[in-house]
Amino acid sequence: MEQRWTVVGGGVAGSVIAARLAEAGAAVTLIELGVDGATPDDMHEAAQIPGRTIDGLRVRRVEGGPYVSYTAGSGLGGGSAINAGLASSTGPFFLQHRLPVEGEGINQRVRRNGSRASVAEVYLNALRSKVEIRSSTTVERVVMGDAQACGVELNSGEIVEADRIVVCAGALMSPLLLMKSGFAVEGLGRRLQDHPSVALRYRNDGLPSTMLIARRSGGVQVIETVVGDEVWVVPALMRPTSTGVIGANDNGEIEAQFRLCQHVGEQELLLAAVTKVAAEHAHREGIDVPRPGREGEWLMDRLASTTSVYSHATGGCCMGEVTDRLGRVKGIENLFVADSSVFPAIPSVNPMIPTVQLAETLSDRWRDAGLVSG
Ligand SMILES: Cc1cc2nc3c(=O)[nH]c(=O)nc-3n(C[C@H](O)[C@H](O)[C@H](O)COP(=O)(O)OP(=O)(O)OC[C@H]3O[C@@H](n4cnc5c(N)ncnc54)[C@H](O)[C@@H]3O)c2cc1C
Repeated sequence: MEQRWTVVGGGVAGSVIAARLAEAGAAVTLIELGVDGATPDDMHEAAQIPGRTIDGLRVRRVEGGPYVSYTAGSGLGGGSAINAGLASSTGPFFLQHRLPVEGEGINQRVRRNGSRASVAEVYLNALRSKVEIRSSTTVERVVMGDAQACGVELNSGEIVEADRIVVCAGALMSPLLLMKSGFAVEGLGRRLQDHPSVALRYRNDGLPSTMLIARRSGGVQVIETVVGDEVWVVPALMRPTSTGVIGANDNGEIEAQFRLCQHVGEQELLLAAVTKVAAEHAHREGIDVPRPGREGEWLMDRLASTTSVYSHATGGCCMGEVTDRLGRVKGIENLFVADSSVFPAIPSVNPMIPTVQLAETLSDRWRDAGLVSG
């Protein structure tokens, strides 16, 4: 009998997983809460499209800090339909993926002929006749039967039955979905991470709206970009060690606390980067920048209160704790997680390509383990 796989979330990883399963001959249903279709190249414009970000997502960036909104991609392509597409320049991260990459060195971006190429467009478009895509549809929980996962329940109450379920709802939503489904797996919701970042904001003194430049020095990446009539210069720590936690409240809503820069060494590193950026851009008219000598105070306030600038969340369903090396949720038959939530530690580069590679790797492992059949 034909094997039925249901993939929850058609973002970066979900697009790869659905494509690879369909190519292997499995019957695939892909359920995505956001919308279908292409988006503009401009990430700020793209994120304004209804159904292109997860509505009302609020997180705590630092321990005990205020709740602030967090941008997570939604719709087919997920993060790749709204992000900057910045890719890392060299190393093993380029070994296995089909994404088109343009540009030089640290400034390479996932683009085709100068325009956005979302992971869904690259991986899924040619396979649309082979994958049942249900967009604007939310999965509420994984359904169990005979001690194994056997389907998912939608927001309409409909049950979609499946032989195997792959959760690709992203680093915040995958752990939440497992919690809402009642799974108490050791480690679930732990090791939430992001690249800690803050934006120094200046009046735009004539730079083009398309400007996006990245620089990297050691563990610090600095992005300079135009946002409306401002220039934002954004230093970020690319090798953070602090970890946060995700939980669910009684209403099934997410409670996420990143605990950015919990370790003093990280605060010092980011402070040094902020101080350097502020000095380098002192000739510009500042809109939100630290006063000389008050950088530490400014940093700790903005770290807590800024809405997301980098949105590189990982963790929550870490491989080795929550899943095995196949992404199989420990103790639950036929249920897999395959997205940025399974990284045990945040990649030290922009995470989109590593997430695609993770999905490619898991697809290979499933094939090699004989899990996928037509
Ligand atoms: C604004 C922004 C800028 C970024 N810039 C870059 C960059 O320049 N370079 C880079 O490498 N990375 C960047 N990233 C990060 C990158 O996009 C993410 O790391 C990547 O998208 C994570 O892939 P994922 O598959 O884990 O999750 P996602 O791509 O977020 O996909 C998860 C999908 O699951 C869906 N979903 C969630 N819950 C449910 C549910 N219950 N039912 C059905 N569907 C559900 C969501 O709608 C979403 O489409 C950026 C991200 C953002 C948001």
